[in-house]
Amino acid sequence: MVTKREVVEKRKKLVSLAKKKVSFNKGDKRAYSPKLCVVCGRPLSSLIINENKYIIIQAHTRYHINELFIVDACADITSCYRTLKQKGELEEDVDVKQYQASGKET
Ligand SMILES: [Zn+2]
Repeated sequence: MVTKREVVEKRKKLVSLAKKKVSFNKGDKRAYSPKLCVVCGRPLSSLIINENKYIIIQAHTRYHINELFIVDACADITSCYRTLKQKGELEEDVDVKQYQASGKET
């Protein structure tokens, strides 16, 4: 489980560590491999089977931490929140948690 604050911190760390950043927009075909957001795990590229190429399906930023370590993350933090929430991995704020504890969780 991660909290929203941890998501913010992770993303801040990426920005502060990155030596270079490259933005990718949805529909971009400059992808050559499957990509996942390092923060939330959301798929960022998808294989076009007929063309044997990848297409960007989610706007994201590529962070070049160093020459060996390059990671991708959603351009929009709300995308990370949404994905983590869908996977049931996002811990909401304390108030929300108390509310859930008193109610029924699926
Ligand atoms: Zn993400």
